[in-house]
Amino acid sequence: MDGWSFDFAGDVAAPGVLTIDLAALTRNYLALRERLTPARTGAVVKADAYGLGAARVAPALYGAGCRDFFVAHLDEALALKPILAPDARLFVLNGLLPGAEEPCAAAGVIPVLNSLEQVANWSAAARVHGAELPAVLQVDTGMSRLGLAAAELARLAGDPGLRRDLRLLFLISHLASADEPESPQNADQLDAWRRAASAFPGLDLCFANSAGILLGASYHGMLARPGIALYGGVPAAGAAGVTSPVVRLEVRVIQTRTVPAGTRVGYGGSHVTAGAARLATLAAGYADGLPRHLGGRGAAYCGATRLPMVGRISMDSLTVDVTALPPGALGLGSLVEIIGPHQSLEEVAAAAETISYEILTRLGHRYQRRYRPAGADASRTIEQAS
Ligand SMILES: *Cc1c(COP(=O)(O)O)cnc(C)c1O
Repeated sequence: MDGWSFDFAGDVAAPGVLTIDLAALTRNYLALRERLTPARTGAVVKADAYGLGAARVAPALYGAGCRDFFVAHLDEALALKPILAPDARLFVLNGLLPGAEEPCAAAGVIPVLNSLEQVANWSAAARVHGAELPAVLQVDTGMSRLGLAAAELARLAGDPGLRRDLRLLFLISHLASADEPESPQNADQLDAWRRAASAFPGLDLCFANSAGILLGASYHGMLARPGIALYGGVPAAGAAGVTSPVVRLEVRVIQTRTVPAGTRVGYGGSHVTAGAARLATLAAGYADGLPRHLGGRGAAYCGATRLPMVGRISMDSLTVDVTALPPGALGLGSLVEIIGPHQSLEEVAAAAETISYEILTRLGHRYQRRYRPAGADASRTIEQAS
């Protein structure tokens, strides 16, 4: 529990404790920045900073030197703008819907423009505003999700009038297969990216997500956009150890029982005990972001002892087999580990046959949240680095 020790008294109203280590977060940021220098290191804080609380995460990253923050929706940027210093730039990855230009411009938020229609709408807003407006252009280099196709980009490059009301800051594109370093799609996208960039000489480039950073310097551009690696996820096979865990999740025991062989457990009676067993019911379920798919596959931990999840996961509870523990080891209110030193975020995601991103973003708001502050050590590192 070193560095994590808290007084748990008074926390018994929640299903468990979600601890978010802002010191680890800022260390992760600095570790990525070291790899990326001379490129700049931004941060993706969309989806409430992957569920961890953007209002806490973004200021901590700002304190570590981050000035470029990416969110998905304008609403997310508008919520963060007042809590970050004016020199923090907020970018809206999903672009703007018609009518969103005015509040975006008024707040000083920078949209990522994904189509010629959005370029035209933002240009019209600039004319109303009476001044150039900053913007980022997204180029689709092969993911077919967001961004201008090559032909649209060529039109924009060839007709400066289409962009005379805009101050283009940089070009952005997104990698579809960066988590598979062997995929030929990475090099294909890099080629498409270089062709796109050549149409806008002098414009800065922003390409890499977490896994893209690990593909090497040719993917770095001038600004990177890591998300999951900041939050302790392992962005690609072989990338373990690049960053450290940020999240710890412990859930409370709300009932224990001893049952004979042949006892049915949970909805549908899908689990039947093979022998006499001790069971513990935990206070979190799929409404707390523990996928139903973990039933019969996942586990909790008490120290190093694995406690298999048995039967189906309920909305607000789940059951683990605690027969491996000494009788009385767990009682009403005991905490067991779901994510922590004995079971990583990636292991939970693998057991649920999903990705760490989905586990994090679904953890929800019923847990007691504890933020470990970025702390003095991190601020010393920052002073040295700036
Ligand atoms: C979510 C997202 C990122 C961050 O990706 P990670 O894999 O979490 O590092 C970067 N860029 C774009 C466009 C995104 O949508």
